[in-house]
Amino acid sequence: MPPTPSSTAHPEQPAPRVSVEFFPPKTEEGARQILKTAQALQAHGIAFASITYGAGGSTRERTIEYGELLQQLFHYRVVPHLTCVGHTRDELAGITDRLANTGFTGIMALRGDPPRGETEFRASENGLAHASELVALIRKRHGGRFTIGVAGYPGKHPEAPTEAEDMKWLAHKVAQGADFITTQLFFDNAAYFPFASRCRAAGITIPIIPGILPITSLEQALKFCHTCGAALPAALGRRLTECGTDAVAAHTAGIEWACAQVRELLARGVPGFHLYILNRARPALELLRQVGLPRPPGNTP
Ligand code: FAD
Repeated sequence: MPPTPSSTAHPEQPAPRVSVEFFPPKTEEGARQILKTAQALQAHGIAFASITYGAGGSTRERTIEYGELLQQLFHYRVVPHLTCVGHTRDELAGITDRLANTGFTGIMALRGDPPRGETEFRASENGLAHASELVALIRKRHGGRFTIGVAGYPGKHPEAPTEAEDMKWLAHKVAQGADFITTQLFFDNAAYFPFASRCRAAGITIPIIPGILPITSLEQALKFCHTCGAALPAALGRRLTECGTDAVAAHTAGIEWACAQVRELLARGVPGFHLYILNRARPALELLRQVGLPRPPGNTP
């Protein structure tokens, strides 16, 4: 499921592997949207589709429900996310059993964020404190049944005191049995390359999939930077500001920016990328078209 580490953007090499992230819908309109988007992207050679896990309540059930639908209706290889938040170890074990019985072959193993209004993550009673423990649980219980993905943070995770400390725990998480890393979104490739180099220097050899968000407005970019700690490059901020209230211009600028990121990543040998699509097909389709993916039949070896 994760990209092979050796491919490049050259025509004679395997095509870059593109994955996408969905979130489970909360409303009927949202339900129509995710299915419409899944259908629109279906023919575009998506390597796998991940689907996020909410902070609690019924949305969590919908991760599995919509994960199954994406598999059954559109034949995606689906990687459901799972977090430690609010679960005991036994509950997490039960959920992984259910995911196995439902036919999923991948899990994105995460710790999760502290509940709204709290700044510090606290493990549930009899729960898990770190994503690495969830990776270990899945490996111990299911052997090689699942391909396991984990999160990585170019720069560092916002709670980590230093990059070095965060890298130490990332390496530990990988050592528990992760198969690939998907990064937090970033708007500046200058954050990705040193992170990937530090991963390799720390002995991490699994694929590191860069997470790209084709943004469509300044407000959206600022919101994501605030929630996930990514930096907004001054040049991107300026371009979006210049767009003012022109939504079409902002959309175009955001896609162009993401395309430039992707082109550089592929040109420098990164084997694939993960698109945060926010359940919308259009930005992803435009990006794929502009960067020439998937390649027309005949170009693929
Ligand atoms: P961890 O790997 O446990 O790391 C969290 C912090 O603890 C880091 O600062 C790390 O350095 C430190 N740490 C790790 N292990 C140890 C240890 N043993 N001792 C001391 N410190 C340690 N959130 C959701 O709620 N649902 C989702 O579906 C979701 N999907 C995501 C997908 C991706 C690709 C990414 C990048 C993030 C996603 N998140 C999701 C957000 C994620 O849950 C948060 O970023 C969360 O704060 C950290 O999760 P983690 O799995 O990286 O945690």
